[in-house]
Amino acid sequence: MPEDIPQMPQRFFDNIHVLNFREIASAVALTLLGDDLPADVIVRIVDETLSFNTPLVKLDDKNFILELFHGPTLAFKDVGARFMARLMAYYQKDSSEKCTVLVATSGDTGSAVANGFYGVEGIDVVLLYPSGKISKIQEQQLTTLGKNITAIEIEGSFDDCQDLVKQAFVDDELNDKMMLSSANSINLARLIPQTFYYFNAVAQLRNRGYNEAPVISVPSGNLGNLSAGLIAKRMGLPVKSFIAACNKNDSLTKYLLNGEYMAQKTKHTISNAMDVGNPSNVVRIQDLYGYAIPFLKQDLHSWSFFDEETRDMMRKAYKKYNYILDPHGAVGLCGAEKYHKMIDDDDIIITVETAHPAKFGDIVEPVLGIKPPMPERLEKVLHLEKKAIRMGADFGVFKEYLLGRNA
Ligand SMILES: *Cc1c(COP(=O)(O)O)cnc(C)c1O
Repeated sequence: MPEDIPQMPQRFFDNIHVLNFREIASAVALTLLGDDLPADVIVRIVDETLSFNTPLVKLDDKNFILELFHGPTLAFKDVGARFMARLMAYYQKDSSEKCTVLVATSGDTGSAVANGFYGVEGIDVVLLYPSGKISKIQEQQLTTLGKNITAIEIEGSFDDCQDLVKQAFVDDELNDKMMLSSANSINLARLIPQTFYYFNAVAQLRNRGYNEAPVISVPSGNLGNLSAGLIAKRMGLPVKSFIAACNKNDSLTKYLLNGEYMAQKTKHTISNAMDVGNPSNVVRIQDLYGYAIPFLKQDLHSWSFFDEETRDMMRKAYKKYNYILDPHGAVGLCGAEKYHKMIDDDDIIITVETAHPAKFGDIVEPVLGIKPPMPERLEKVLHLEKKAIRMGADFGVFKEYLLGRNA
């Protein structure tokens, strides 16, 4: 965590509604990173990262949806991955050596990272994914890029993939012969850009004539998205409070309830990108609030929901608003509904929608009885040729492969 989180000046908030997304993001990035990077580089990286918008959709007078799924892989992780990739490329630019980013993925993170780094000079990405254990769409998103992105299909589990990557990072010979890097969500370079869309959300709300500070409901797993929101609030963003909406992986919900953090075994749910038993960003949130639960509880509510409640919410939102939620966003809206019932039904809540419903069509379709419309760029990916290297879960083989690439 940064030592001190800087404040945005009051005049920035006075004018936020007349700024566009890139202007808002540049101002925030300059405040956070201005001591570390030249201003023109920051603005360029922001511009390249935000090649898409994050629109605010009104459901009713008290409920809005912030759609974060308009990026290349249709999930919010695109914002962080694209920014991190460009930042790494900048730091890498004077090096004659290529940097190899190793990523083990169970689906979504990998495709966002792969897309984020696609075509970025000086950086190769090697992605490991477990054969047969990710969805068809996810596999196509990982294996059809080409260029500087290589996919390796491991005959094993996600844990096997992760073990191979971890072993590579501690292998002396590999580290001697090549420059290896990771790209996981604990990386601050992925978190900073996630603050941008919270500022943009408040700007859009103002633009529609709502001047009060909203509550924001965040479907949460590893808590990166929530951490970014809490950092934005600390920078002065007028948000009344946040809701961490969790599935039955509820170690954060229990932490707020009991005051004691306990890691859990991961449970499988229909909002699977949030299936994290021991979120790595918990320490970040604890640090931000000085480990003081009462202080944290002023800014954060948390509830957890069963899959059946998630499905009910998908049906309800479709019937009431004609809005198709993906299972993650549905958990978020469950959190918003709970807040309106338990805390204050007058508050405006922005629920963050983290993925496009077509990405989770296999879950959405049986619940709603309709096929969510498939965006063109997803449809296209489905018809591209899969290119992956198949490998057993054996470190010796993986290491030989990496050394061979570099030779
Ligand atoms: C990663 C992800 C989440 C959870 O975000 P965290 O930052 O890990 O809390 C929620 N929804 C979707 C679709 C995701 O890909």
